Amino acid sequence: MDSRPVRRATYVPKTTKYVSAPQASTGYSWYEIAAVVLFFIGFIYVASLQFFTIEDNIAFISCRSARRSISTAISEFKADFPSVVIGHVKKEINLKKLVDTKYLRYNPKCWCDGNFKINSKDEVYCTFHTPEIEDANN
Ligand SMILES: [Zn+2]
Repeated sequence: MDSRPVRRATYVPKTTKYVSAPQASTGYSWYEIAAVVLFFIGFIYVASLQFFTIEDNIAFISCRSARRSISTAISEFKADFPSVVIGHVKKEINLKKLVDTKYLRYNPKCWCDGNFKINSKDEVYCTFHTPEIEDANN
């Protein structure tokens, strides 16, 4: 019933060693398949890591430019309305007010759902990307 070539593992008498016959030309051994599967798993893993790294970088760059434009808008607003408070330390910045008064052209958003706040030095920070700026002690 076995249609494969008759060359198969040969038992060498008086030893416990099997000498494997040359591979049949059809079909793959389990370790060849395993190697291919592992290769693909590794490939997909590396590719997805790179994808998420790139996405993180874009989100970070976009967030940074949002913080810059907010910071510019706040300083312009403050120059024009020194008495109006646009944001309290560690509280969310009143972005709506900046947009309504046209100091911001659009409502900037952080891709990673961070909130924009200002610290005691009036620096804009993102609660997701730059939370370390929250406490400005000097
Ligand atoms: Zn952010």
